[in-house]
Amino acid sequence: MNYDVIVIGSGVVGSALAHGVAKEGLKVAVLDAKTDIPNSYRHLSINKKSKHFLEQIGVWQNIENNAFPYDQIKVWDQEGTGFIDFNAREAGLSNLGYIVREGDIQKTLIDSFHKNNIQTYWGHSLEGINISKDRIICKTNKKTFQGKIIIGSDGMNSHVRNLSKISSRSWSYNQTAIVANFESSAKDMCIRQTFTSVGPLALLPMNSKEMTMIWSIDDEYAYKFLSMTDLEFTAEVKKYFGEHIDYLKLNSKRQNFPLHHLSAKTFAKNGIFLVGDSAHHIHPLAGLGLNAGIGDVDCLSELIKLNGLNEINKITSSYNGSRIPVNLALAASMEAFKRGFGQKNIWVRLLRNSAFNIANELTPLKKKFMQLATEL
Ligand SMILES: Cc1cc2nc3c(=O)[nH]c(=O)nc-3n(C[C@H](O)[C@H](O)[C@H](O)COP(=O)(O)OP(=O)(O)OC[C@H]3O[C@@H](n4cnc5c(N)ncnc54)[C@H](O)[C@@H]3O)c2cc1C
Repeated sequence: MNYDVIVIGSGVVGSALAHGVAKEGLKVAVLDAKTDIPNSYRHLSINKKSKHFLEQIGVWQNIENNAFPYDQIKVWDQEGTGFIDFNAREAGLSNLGYIVREGDIQKTLIDSFHKNNIQTYWGHSLEGINISKDRIICKTNKKTFQGKIIIGSDGMNSHVRNLSKISSRSWSYNQTAIVANFESSAKDMCIRQTFTSVGPLALLPMNSKEMTMIWSIDDEYAYKFLSMTDLEFTAEVKKYFGEHIDYLKLNSKRQNFPLHHLSAKTFAKNGIFLVGDSAHHIHPLAGLGLNAGIGDVDCLSELIKLNGLNEINKITSSYNGSRIPVNLALAASMEAFKRGFGQKNIWVRLLRNSAFNIANELTPLKKKFMQLATEL
């Protein structure tokens, strides 16, 4: 089986990349170890740059009906001394982004593969990669494929990364994210996040009647929160949110995700390109991981459009030069937030809170934060 581009992993990032390069006329195959299209009910925030890319590849109009816009983000700490809010009006925007169900974006992308003549191979788990002079051979459990380039979009435990001997740095955040959906009385378009004594707790509006919750809890307490009854757990969420929410009723299972940082040492070499979580994985507290992945896809699709596949070395150095620094800076900011808010030392907390309050006053500094969140 011969293709120009072989994409390993049909998550949102890999599927978006497949469209980005196939619309340039390249012959593209997408392989995934799963046997069918997954239907994740996790909700994610999509920033305006990601939305713009999804518009360009012609899928946003089918996602938009189920996407809920948010126009404000409020963040505070439990002591009531640190507070910051971002709102679309201050930035001259109609909203700051959208909350979308991951399964809706992925299904829309995959359902429209036929428009760009993209071939899919389900139940194909990558087992080997062999790089020769002008071809790369990929072996799955079922078939052998040949491509000019290979895209590793196979998530944090990427086989593409490991089989291509691209090393990475990774560590545990020692937190587990508990994700659940609630019926709620909140009627605005605001994302709320509070830094509790056990970890950051965020509620994101899914529509006018429901919210999704991401609570990144220190591992030592996570089991306790996971083993509570639904009523006990809801009571804890309300307690930590205080007066900001009056009605909450759990209406989904609680899912949990151990949280890790990962950063590949290089994002591209020898015709292998890593995009999304296979290249970088960050703490979900700012809801930017997928947006950073779509940023990779946007950059790589544009480089392939400009250079074609005869200039692979040029594409490799431009892609590394552009995406590694952006993602390192993002990972450093997340680490600073995480460490700053994890501080138990009173002086560090006071300093942190004054910095937060100053940031809330200083419009240029807030604009900088906002740029980071909306334009990765
Ligand atoms: C709790 C939580 C909340 C989050 N919230 C947000 C948010 O609000 N906004 C945001 O921008 N980001 C968010 N993120 C981050 C976001 O979920 C990820 O960055 C994003 O889903 C990564 O997508 P991906 O396509 O790179 O990888 P994945 O979605 O992991 O897809 C990888 C695909 O590769 C396939 N695969 C794996 N191994 C193989 C193999 N050997 N052969 C073939 N196929 C293989 C898998 O089956 C899968 O389909 C959050 C993360 C967490 C944990």
